[in-house]
Amino acid sequence: MNINRQRLLSMLEEVNRISAEGEGVTRLAYTAEEDAALDWFVETCDAHSIETRRDAMGNVFGTVGNSSGDGGILIGSHLDTVKEGGKYDGALGVVAGLEVLMALKENGERLDRPVTVAAFRGEEANILGGTFGSRAFCGLVGFDDTFMEKLEQTPFTEREIRESAGHEGYSDYLELHIEQGKSLENSGTEIGIVDAIAGIRRLDVTVYGEAAHSGTMAMGERDDALTHAAGLLLEFERIVNSFGAPYVGTVGTFSVHPNLANVVPGRVDFVLEVRGPEIDMMRRITEQFTEYAEAGHNVKISENVEKPPSALSDVIIEYGKSVCREAGVRYEVMMSGANHDANSLSSVMNSGLIFIPCLNGVSHNPGEYAAPEDIVRGAEVLLGTVMKLQGNNCGQ
Ligand SMILES: [Zn+2]
Repeated sequence: MNINRQRLLSMLEEVNRISAEGEGVTRLAYTAEEDAALDWFVETCDAHSIETRRDAMGNVFGTVGNSSGDGGILIGSHLDTVKEGGKYDGALGVVAGLEVLMALKENGERLDRPVTVAAFRGEEANILGGTFGSRAFCGLVGFDDTFMEKLEQTPFTEREIRESAGHEGYSDYLELHIEQGKSLENSGTEIGIVDAIAGIRRLDVTVYGEAAHSGTMAMGERDDALTHAAGLLLEFERIVNSFGAPYVGTVGTFSVHPNLANVVPGRVDFVLEVRGPEIDMMRRITEQFTEYAEAGHNVKISENVEKPPSALSDVIIEYGKSVCREAGVRYEVMMSGANHDANSLSSVMNSGLIFIPCLNGVSHNPGEYAAPEDIVRGAEVLLGTVMKLQGNNCGQ
């Protein structure tokens, strides 16, 4: 059974004609452009006699095989983009999923397990947080007061979101996505099989010194919060490097008080972030930092966020590996540093994520590019993995 290269690439082109003005592709979450892309999904399914449905918040689904059957296999990703983004982040996974459905249908393949493609809404959304459509589908949305306030700025009601929890009946999820990094390109690898989606651990750090007149306080007398903080950042970088890849650490927000040219800084606030595949190692990184900082400085350190890494399904990883081996495809098992819909799905079913390379790792940018042969190869690995899952209906 084969992927139809022409059909796959032209579907990708078609959906990318839907965009707001500006460079690259703009289909922001919950706008007319995202709606138009979801309508395109439904029309494309209709044209191929693929059964569709929409849930209450507008996630759309297309299914082949007996949709009342159990143990459904779900393929998904998103059709929304960032402002002036690229043609591949999200759309690739949805379009490749549609091509897989069409190939299965064309082949008259007897499906023991129905196969469904989902286009989840609002993966890039700011207002209710990213991967919103897939979190709603998985029943992972919490309805606290802050959330309810934000909800008022959206087209959705609480009821619609609650009604969209619809993962029952599915037991495996697959997503194809561009890597959005350079690992595959640097190693000349064709396919990435993701084993974990990075967790995030953030600390709020305040470094205290003493504000003073910049002209009158002698160098040797100063207690400069900013130079203390500078030393801490370099030590943080050293600690993260000592743990090696794929652990990464970033200080991306930083504020100096009182932030005046003629005052020695009295206080500095920053947020320190660590991402990686194992929560214990991430904690060790922040502990080493905290120990170092508290030993020699006047600091206040508190935990801001801890989001554990998501482990993906070992069974699906093994299937992905054997599909690649059988097809002579160069693959590597890797972590995803970015969040994806697969992260939501992994908390309710066995989930797998497959990467293809993208040029120079560029993404969220009009220059985002994936080569046609990589796109086709990605779709073939997706199809191969679906077929391996078909043969395994024992609810692993
Ligand atoms: Zn994406």
